[in-house]
Amino acid sequence: MRERIFSGIQPSGVIHIGNYHGAIKNWVKLIDEYECIFCVVDYHAITVQYSTEEFRGRILEAAKTLIVVGIDPERCTLFVQSRVPEHTELTWIFNAVTPVSDLKRMTQYKDKRQQSADNINTGLLTYPILMASDILLYKTNAVPVGEDQVQHLEFTRELARRFNSRFGSTFPEPKTLLGETVRIKGLDGNAKMSKSLNNYIALMEGKDEIWNKLRVAVTDPARKRKTDPGNPFICNIFSLHKLFSSDDEINTVENGCKTAGIGCIECKQILSKNMNIALSPFREKKKELDNNRDYVLDVLEEGRKFCSAIASETMKEVREKIGVIY
Ligand code: SF4
Repeated sequence: MRERIFSGIQPSGVIHIGNYHGAIKNWVKLIDEYECIFCVVDYHAITVQYSTEEFRGRILEAAKTLIVVGIDPERCTLFVQSRVPEHTELTWIFNAVTPVSDLKRMTQYKDKRQQSADNINTGLLTYPILMASDILLYKTNAVPVGEDQVQHLEFTRELARRFNSRFGSTFPEPKTLLGETVRIKGLDGNAKMSKSLNNYIALMEGKDEIWNKLRVAVTDPARKRKTDPGNPFICNIFSLHKLFSSDDEINTVENGCKTAGIGCIECKQILSKNMNIALSPFREKKKELDNNRDYVLDVLEEGRKFCSAIASETMKEVREKIGVIY
């Protein structure tokens, strides 16, 4: 029996190269080794203001993008969180065993409070409980996470321990799989790449859009003229070269930058070309899926059935353990 993995992605409207190289590429590698369940976590995405009309499209877009980049439905499970209502049922039960103080300590809650000062809803606070439910509902053995999610996974383990000690052994404590996740900075060169900060390149962006974004992306600030030598190791463009360019090109850029033998525009043009080569197969495959909506719906329905069967077994056990069966 292979160990089970669960991971999810929000349908935030765009999946960018930071999501891909920071997480999804690693998921694809895990498919052969683990029994993998991947989820479009739509309920996690409703704690911010959004358009319901756009949201419907975004759920399917996220599913299509995952399939396009290698989440192969023949070898793993892909489904949408809200289609398996046991996620929210378990969340309520976990609410009843979670101290509020544990939630208020979460770093992401503190960050989100600042970012959404005009909409501090309860969902921002209880988000880690829904995440713990996503994971524990499937008695997941391991979770591939980026460093910024390690605290949430520790919270999940603590919640499993707390539930088990009060109601009897039910949930395994999932391991953290840090894997080869990489933290990708945004085009502003400072913060993590993110949709909300508008510092991203989307996986499905076309050649011209990629170039327009790279052209104005931040580089080594000390390199004001082409004749100034630069430091590639503090330049985010160089970090992106490491993801998209060949070893020869990376060496050329590194030496050219340090000796002022190459200008930033030329450096960015090489990166733009390589990004386009890497991403164009995704765009092509996405076009095929855009014309085959029924296939995507079938994949999600198969995923829902598979996950519903496990979720229903877990909830039967949980209801018995907490005493709501009579
Ligand atoms: S040459 Fe390339 S690596 Fe060097 S500062 Fe310019 S963009 Fe960055």
